[in-house]
Amino acid sequence: MLLYTLIMIAMMIRARRFRTSAVLLPLVLAVALSGWAASGQTPRRGSLKRPVIDSAMTEKEAFDGLDPKCPAEIRKRQRLIDVKYYSTDGQVHQGQLVLDFELVDDVKKVFALALKDRFPIRSVIPISDGRFRKDGRWDDELSMEADNTSSFNYREITGGGRLSYHAYGRAVDINTFENPYIKGGTVLPHGATYDPKVAGTFNAESPIVREFLRLGWAWGGNWTDRKDYQHFEKPPKK
Ligand SMILES: [Zn+2]
Repeated sequence: MLLYTLIMIAMMIRARRFRTSAVLLPLVLAVALSGWAASGQTPRRGSLKRPVIDSAMTEKEAFDGLDPKCPAEIRKRQRLIDVKYYSTDGQVHQGQLVLDFELVDDVKKVFALALKDRFPIRSVIPISDGRFRKDGRWDDELSMEADNTSSFNYREITGGGRLSYHAYGRAVDINTFENPYIKGGTVLPHGATYDPKVAGTFNAESPIVREFLRLGWAWGGNWTDRKDYQHFEKPPKK
């Protein structure tokens, strides 16, 4: 803006349009200065061309700290992809997901729909990010508490007992705080409540839920023994 103003002034002087510039110059300066002064307070702007970057990991960073028990066959199937979405600030953000290569197309379709509908997604950051580490290990609870969306994580199901589909990169958790896991008196993340009227929350009619189901995924909101509203998974074909 400042550069633009200087160019304008230079052009006016060169053109010797003094009468015009006497009116225009203060106006141009005022606009430039107000824009300049406001830039310090303006919230981050993110557009489709220049999104706010929530995650820009390298392949190495995305898998750093992976549980050594994860078999190489599973690790080799995982892909790190970029996704764009409107975050809760109304700006376009870019984040990353790690998931099984077979499911990349499905998830891209779902994110395209979310972008078209401006469905708010808080952040999409792989669970290996330092913010979601506890004693160096990937921690699902920290990611959930941050309302973060993620996929691959070599871990057991919530409550334990068997490997989760997240361990295969075949499950995605979206907007964890708006869409908690509920079993009996347990609600995760702590302090979350499920209110389908809140933006970013899923119900059976949500276009994103319907799109996942159309693509052959299961939604945790349809389960009867527990509800896992954030959770979508696609088991491998038998
Ligand atoms: Zn999940």
